[in-house]
Parts: sequence; structure tokens; C-alpha cells
Amino acid sequence: MVSSATVYKRKPSESEQPAASDRPALLLAWYDRHRRKLPWRPPAGERADPYRVWLSEIMLQQTGVKTVAPYFEKFLARWPDVGALGRASQDDVLRMWAGLGYYSRARNLHACAVKVVREHGGVFPDSEAGLRALPGIGPYTAAAIAAIAFDRRTMPVDGNIERVVSRLFAVEAPLPQAKPLIQQLAAMLLGTSRAGDDKARAGDEKSRAGDSAQALMDLGASICTPKKPACALCPLNEGCTAHLRGDQEIFPRKLAKKTGALRRGAAFVVTRGLDLLVRTRPEKGLLGGMTEVPGSDWLAGQDDKAALRQAPGLKGVVRWHRKAGVVTHVFTHFPLELVVYTARVAARTRAPQGMCWVPIATLQGEALPNVMRKTIAHGLGH
Ligand code: SF4
Repeated sequence: MVSSATVYKRKPSESEQPAASDRPALLLAWYDRHRRKLPWRPPAGERADPYRVWLSEIMLQQTGVKTVAPYFEKFLARWPDVGALGRASQDDVLRMWAGLGYYSRARNLHACAVKVVREHGGVFPDSEAGLRALPGIGPYTAAAIAAIAFDRRTMPVDGNIERVVSRLFAVEAPLPQAKPLIQQLAAMLLGTSRAGDDKARAGDEKSRAGDSAQALMDLGASICTPKKPACALCPLNEGCTAHLRGDQEIFPRKLAKKTGALRRGAAFVVTRGLDLLVRTRPEKGLLGGMTEVPGSDWLAGQDDKAALRQAPGLKGVVRWHRKAGVVTHVFTHFPLELVVYTARVAARTRAPQGMCWVPIATLQGEALPNVMRKTIAHGLGH
């Protein structure tokens, strides 16, 4: 919580300015008082469980803490350790993941659990190199797990940390080119416990890399926010270049993003009594292995008539009813617009090859991506 945070108001004289070497200790002292309570974090001073760290880090890729928390709890209740997850079916994992988006993460999550069980005896490797050899674990995630679960001296740099560090040192180079520089600067904030501290073993210094990384993440999430950072509450404000200049919000500098062209397509919402016609997307590619209603290709400049010609061949459907409006969805690389067609078919109508009927009442449990949930709701008039 930041409410009880120390407020740093007075501008210090030069002799009072904290040395750069004090920053790691200031940051850790702040973290010890104000760390966020998150479902995957153990109580202060306890070692984090690698399984929980890994699961949360995969879920948090491109997704916020609020969205992830209930999914994390759900996964943990069903699969309390990596062994249990490794024995689950990929379909079950995808079903539980439905709604979190970026579904290749769920397939890799399952593949990773299987590999940890089969090749590592159910124990996560404790080095960055070992972790990077696992499916779905890139450089950032490997560093995050190595630091948080094993206190390896490495700094995982996420969006929050990029923002804090680029302001602290007024990094003028834009992202993504500035990443290696930010990585180097962030590593200077890694802290240790000294002998006598609670966390130190007698007579030596002990890495608190995990706490340093989480401190920066928390600082970025709660104080060094994209707009109007609360610099008065920040433990690093006395040595922060952007704060001293008053131009915090221009950092991190970014190159203008190129978004892909709008793609269009058609989706076909077909009901048979209380059943809906669905199919499974191919394993590889966007939304791989997820459930969808049949549809056309998604193309830039898709022609409505050409899209309609890709409707599933069903006995008894002579005319498709076009719903007013379109369903829109934004993927990372392109925005999508879907025209939705509906049809009702008679009882006992057979599903075309590669498709099947599922009861509408059980759709909640299907591995439907958000774009399909919106499409079905639109088609069924919910
Ligand atoms: S002083 Fe302000 S801009 Fe600088 S790191 Fe702290 S919150 Fe961010």
C-alpha cells in the first residue's frame, strides 16, 4: 500500500543526494514496507514456489494482474503443482485458459509442464539457460523465474521496469532499441541483504534479486505510473533525472507503432434446437486449437460475397440471415471485423465434416476465444 509511504518532499542538498549505490537498498527498504499482496507471492521472507512464479509469469504476458488473478487461482485449485498440470490433457488446459487470450501461451504452458515432469523429474531448472530450454519460456520469463524463485542475480525487464528505469536515467533512445541499455541500467538496481539483515546467512551477503525485480515492478505499477507518477512517494525520487527535470511522462520514448491493415471476414452462427455448430481451429497459428463457429478466411479487403461463399454446406439452409452490425476485435497485429450470418436447421441435421454440435448451455466450458464469444453472443442476440 502506498498510503503510509514515506513522503519525500524536500529537495536534498548535494551532500544529501543518495549515491547511485544506495538505490538498491532504498528500493528494497521500500519494498519491505509496501510490497503488493498478489496470489502468487509468498509472505515476506519466504521463498517463492517456482511453479507459481512460472504460472503467473506466463499468464501475465500481455495481460494485467486483475485479469490474471482469478485464472491463477482456478489453475492452482485444479492443478496444484507442475506434476498435476503435466498429467492434464491439452484440451482441459485450453478450456481453463479460455478468455485469457494469446492461446499459444496455454499450449506452451502444457508442453512445458509435460517436459518438466518427463525430463526434469517435476523440478524446474534453477538457471536462466535451463529455463530457456523449456517451451514458452523466453529471455524475460527465464530471468523472472530465475530471479524471483531462485534469487539468481539477473533483472527481468518488463514494461513497468522499462518505464521506471528510463525515467530514472532519462534514457533518450526509443524503445525497442533502448532495451539493452535499459537492461544494463536495471541490473544496477539489484540488491542484497547484508550480514545481520533478516534475509542474510551469517557472515555473507545474499542476493535479493527477486525482491529487487518485484520492487521495481511494484513501483512501476503503483507509483511510477504511465500518467501522473506519484514522485513524492517514490523512494528513488532524489536521484531521478526525469523527476528533477519534470518531464517524467515523455519516458520511455517509443517509436510510433505500425498496426496491420483491417481484416474482414464472415462468421456463421448455426443453431439446431438448443445446439450450436462449432469446429476446432488448426493446431498451428492464431488461436490454434481453439473452438470457433465456422467462418470465412480473414483478409484485408475481404469481399462480403466471397466470404459468404465459404458458408458451411448444410441441408435445409437456403438463405443466411445477415445480422445488423459487425463484431470487432483487435489482435496484436491487426484489427478484425466480422459480419455474422445466422441460420436454424432442423433437428437431426448432420454437422458437416470436421464440425460438431455442442449444447449452447455448455459453451461456457468450451475453449472459445473472446472474439468467438462476442461473435456467438451477437449471432444468438444475447
Ligand atoms: S521519481 Fe517519479 S519518475 Fe522517477 S522513478 Fe520515481 S516515480 Fe518514477
